[in-house]
Amino acid sequence: MGLFSRKKRQSSEESLSPNKNKWFNDYNNWDYDEDKINAAWMHFLNDLKSLLSDTKIIEPNDAADNYSYELRGKMDGLPVKFETDTMDYSYSNPPCLNVIIKLKDYEGDFDLTRDHDKIPMDKDDDDWGDEDQDIRVFVGKGIFVEGDEDRVCSTLAYIDGFPEDITDAVLQQMEEIPILYYRISYDQLEVFPEDSPILWENPIDRYTAILDLMGKIAKHVLGSNVESDNIEKKILTKYKRVKCKYCSSHFLMGETSNCPNCGGSDVE
Ligand SMILES: [Zn+2]
Repeated sequence: MGLFSRKKRQSSEESLSPNKNKWFNDYNNWDYDEDKINAAWMHFLNDLKSLLSDTKIIEPNDAADNYSYELRGKMDGLPVKFETDTMDYSYSNPPCLNVIIKLKDYEGDFDLTRDHDKIPMDKDDDDWGDEDQDIRVFVGKGIFVEGDEDRVCSTLAYIDGFPEDITDAVLQQMEEIPILYYRISYDQLEVFPEDSPILWENPIDRYTAILDLMGKIAKHVLGSNVESDNIEKKILTKYKRVKCKYCSSHFLMGETSNCPNCGGSDVE
């Protein structure tokens, strides 16, 4: 069974509260103290160095218009970068730390997004119709590809070409950590977690797991020598795109698939 026939997963959203790890302990009492914030990020990024080789840290530099922290290094010879997405110090929305691997000469194009707000709430959600031509097809609970028909087809075919253990692990990780975007854009494999490591109990463990899976994907795509554009639209012969009768989600019906969002098996 391939990507689109997996069992429904349990959502594992944790309740997020600050003060969860030693690096950012007491974060909401720092009162925008930049020295404390900077020291904490440097401490954390220095400990993250153990996941890479040839590391260096780049600190924010207002004069150079650089407002993010970066940890650069290598993994299996590939350049890897951890990068904060903002240095907005608000407690309610602390910086996330994205992970990017450069895939040398490879170029791909695929995009998985996890957003539970995009799960249709009821079957009437779709009554206004699609004013634009974009479609959204779910491959896991709240996890989807979207775009115009061609892009969705090529993305689904591209993902379907992955070994099953990798696609399973990607969907599981997107759900568990959780991860907002998992994508290959040009020559970069990018993972954008939904939350800041400030809010995680074991951020080093999580980034270890993320890097491990990214390494497997990098190895696969660099070894397979297949670009997304070259893949036939085989998905549409193997799977039928259907609309759930209960929640109106579009998904791919394989031999045993249920709706990834509501579990229903009746389709329109
Ligand atoms: Zn459904």
